[in-house]
Amino acid sequence: MENNSKRLLNRTTYKRIKNMDREQLSGYVTNVYLNGYEAGRKAATPDLLLRTFREVLLSIDSIGPTRADAIMKKLSDTFALKEKEAEQAEGSDTRNTPRRPDYEADGYADGQLVYDTAYCPECHHMFEEGVNDWHSAYCPDCGQKLDWTPEPEETTEEAEA
Ligand SMILES: [Zn+2]
Repeated sequence: MENNSKRLLNRTTYKRIKNMDREQLSGYVTNVYLNGYEAGRKAATPDLLLRTFREVLLSIDSIGPTRADAIMKKLSDTFALKEKEAEQAEGSDTRNTPRRPDYEADGYADGQLVYDTAYCPECHHMFEEGVNDWHSAYCPDCGQKLDWTPEPEETTEEAEA
């Protein structure tokens, strides 16, 4: 039994698309593509989907090859952006796991190294003891969660000369 509901463009949708302006159409096609991509990623390669969409676009009277390619470009740009956003979301999971700053001894007090400088392990933001972001829970630059304990040695106390 043929299932017409599975046709990509039924008559109603077709008429609706024909009345859309360029921006509406781009948005519509992008949504269809992204939904279709999610649903079809196991069944079809992105290449096949992209080629299919280009054919669909070209089958619409008001869309010529130039416009179809412009829409395809927007689709692949949007797709790349979505992938990047997904990567960044994964990255933010990593940033929520506390990491120790990299301490750096940049001087001596009473013959002992003083660790009064530290760097974000993710972006190398520099923290200096006494500056207000020292011991802050998150890196102010990249959002990496920081674990400030334990410090390397008991060498950060004020050296009284
Ligand atoms: Zn950072």
